[in-house]
Amino acid sequence: MTTYNRLFIGGDWVAPVTGDTYELTSASTEEPIGSVPAASEADVDVAVSEARRAFEDPDGWATWEPARRADAIDELANQLELRAEEMARRVAAQNGMPITIAKQLEGGFPLIVLRYYANLLRSSSFETQQPHLLGGTSTVRREPLGVVAAISPWNYPQTLASFKIAPALAAGCTIVLKPSPETLLDSFLFGEAVAATSVPAGVVNIVPGGREVGAYLVGHPGVDKVAFTGSTAAGRLIAETCGRLLRPVTLELGGKSAAIVLDDADLNLEVVGERLFESLLVNNGQTCYLGTRVLAPDNRYDEVVDTLAAFVAGLPVGDALDPQTMIGPMASALHRDRVEGFIDKGRGEGARVVTGGERSDRDRGWFVTPTVFADVDNNSVIAQEEIFGPVLAVIRYSDVDDAVRIANDSRYGLGGTVWTSDPDRGAAVARRVHTGTIGINRYLPDPSAPFGGVKDSGLGRELGPEGLNAYLNVKTIYS
Ligand code: NAD
Repeated sequence: MTTYNRLFIGGDWVAPVTGDTYELTSASTEEPIGSVPAASEADVDVAVSEARRAFEDPDGWATWEPARRADAIDELANQLELRAEEMARRVAAQNGMPITIAKQLEGGFPLIVLRYYANLLRSSSFETQQPHLLGGTSTVRREPLGVVAAISPWNYPQTLASFKIAPALAAGCTIVLKPSPETLLDSFLFGEAVAATSVPAGVVNIVPGGREVGAYLVGHPGVDKVAFTGSTAAGRLIAETCGRLLRPVTLELGGKSAAIVLDDADLNLEVVGERLFESLLVNNGQTCYLGTRVLAPDNRYDEVVDTLAAFVAGLPVGDALDPQTMIGPMASALHRDRVEGFIDKGRGEGARVVTGGERSDRDRGWFVTPTVFADVDNNSVIAQEEIFGPVLAVIRYSDVDDAVRIANDSRYGLGGTVWTSDPDRGAAVARRVHTGTIGINRYLPDPSAPFGGVKDSGLGRELGPEGLNAYLNVKTIYS
């Protein structure tokens, strides 16, 4: 059991206002693994005022030379590196992410993101001068927006928090992070890492809470910018609040991306198996950008279905902490029930189960049997709704125009892939898909390039220089 009794606010471990707690459970064994205090609205008030105080400090974080802030961000990356194994273990235990993946992503990716922004900061200019068109000089400054409310989901709690924290810190903002109730033990370890650096008190504050606390934080008068990753439904509510308050907001929301298999694709699993796994199934399907709608050409339809079915049926399912595991459990019993509901719905709609489909026979853990549906109609629920589990729907297309039409026939537009032996042909198809990101024969987000969605998948971009701009106000001084 990992137990915390205090919250990380104002650079210190402070007693929470109420005695409410969150009990954390292993997704693989359903055993208790930890207990942490819950933040109330009163704790959020303290966290926002600490973040405000740290932001307004005339000698504080926002006023530091970029190189000094960059050094402190590197320090944070180094402190997280010291805790990377434990971080991966905590995330895997809580949300079911297989430990080998958790080490690479939750243990490793935030370090890459932090170091990328530290380096970007060292090479960025925050003030330029130009001749005023009507005579004189215009000085254009890029200044930190202020106090950031960062709200993260449970599927990649550390990685997705780093997409917000790293650029916000680089910009000179201060942060109140609200992690998701399913994954809190990792956020306390993150707090320990921050406490071990020279990042000043109050620059990073953490308020563990559910949607009510999140909504309270989003609308808090002391917040200047909101950065959210989570469901489209919650994103809409947050956008409404931010619209009313004219508060800048970045939204990374749901997805239902297409994996377009062209008729010249190499389907040899020895060659493409790992990349198919990363693009279609990683983290037990609990990943926003996965290409869970597989579009297969008429003339190779059966081959695509059989290949995917054999691949999915052969993936080792097991305890998330077992290094052999490729597919772990769902993050919660509620989510497992939701995914199973979609599988029932798919069968009811007439799609053909090729592998999986039945309830998991494990007596412990929130497991779902990895499932492939064939003969799926793109208008059906399992083709249009985000399932967020190890469930693939294979849809038939007649020619490339038909494939592009089906790929774009979705309310989402976050990720996607094109599978082909001809990269130029792949790029031509990729250009026609309405989405924020897309890969050719792979899908691997690049920390130095913008990431995000169109349509119901979100607003704005994280990562890359665009991700830094989202935390900066551009101010012009005429002289
Ligand atoms: P969720 O929307 O239920 O919760 C996400 C976070 O928002 C949690 O911390 C939650 O407590 C908080 N929250 C919920 N309602 C809120 C509200 N009204 N105001 C403020 N905060 C609120 O989502 P989830 O189930 O935790 O995560 C899964 C979803 O996240 C999926 O839809 C997935 O596609 C999406 N996601 C998107 C990306 C992306 O980059 N686009 C990445 C990962 C996950």
